[in-house]
Amino acid sequence: MNNLNILEIKQRIDSACRKSGRRPDEITLIAVVKNRPVGSASQAVAQGVIDLGENRVQEAVIKYSQISGARWHLIGHLQTNKVKDAVRIFDLIHSVDSLRLAREIDKQAVKLNKIQDVLIEIKTSPEESKFGIEPDKGIEMVKLISGLKNIRIKGLMTIAPLADAPEQSRPYFRRLRELKDIINADSAASFQLSTLSMGMSDDFEIAIEEGSTMVRIGRALFDS
Ligand SMILES: *Cc1c(COP(=O)(O)O)cnc(C)c1O
Repeated sequence: MNNLNILEIKQRIDSACRKSGRRPDEITLIAVVKNRPVGSASQAVAQGVIDLGENRVQEAVIKYSQISGARWHLIGHLQTNKVKDAVRIFDLIHSVDSLRLAREIDKQAVKLNKIQDVLIEIKTSPEESKFGIEPDKGIEMVKLISGLKNIRIKGLMTIAPLADAPEQSRPYFRRLRELKDIINADSAASFQLSTLSMGMSDDFEIAIEEGSTMVRIGRALFDS
């Protein structure tokens, strides 16, 4: 069994933290196991990375049944007809992008007597193809969804557009952090968002400099 590049990634997380005056324990490393065999997922857990990210519910259901001791993160688009399984297995759903979806999550969570932790996916880039809520609708959406009893909004998630250089992702990450700050100032009494899920293999250090608390890493962790 090969060792994953965990040590190298952790060192890069540490130096991004040092550079920006943050503590490494503020950052959760999520091993993105999409399109990888169940063996890769169990390898990550065995080597101490217990947060696993999947973008398809069905793939996650299969891996979930074979791996214990992991926390599961849904990072891909969620269709309403997959919500039941998603609520059953995921600790955190990063990709809530409509009130309709949130209502269905709430409904299934009630049935399972679960409070489902979620992030609201924000479309920080103008690219047409991406899922997510427009930033200027973010505050309203968070307010509406926070009214659902069996959902707990932990924070926001975004995906930066494909870029030639990591630095090009910075404005999108900054925009997400600013939106979190605005929402927290606005809703000071009722709840506070703590989580920012942003940064992937090519740009996680920039994301950390801009306030990320969860980096979602596939290639840089598994491919040598
Ligand atoms: C695939 C994927 C990742 C991981 O991408 P890498 O470039 O392999 O690190 C992170 N987040 C989302 C939403 C993804 O779909």
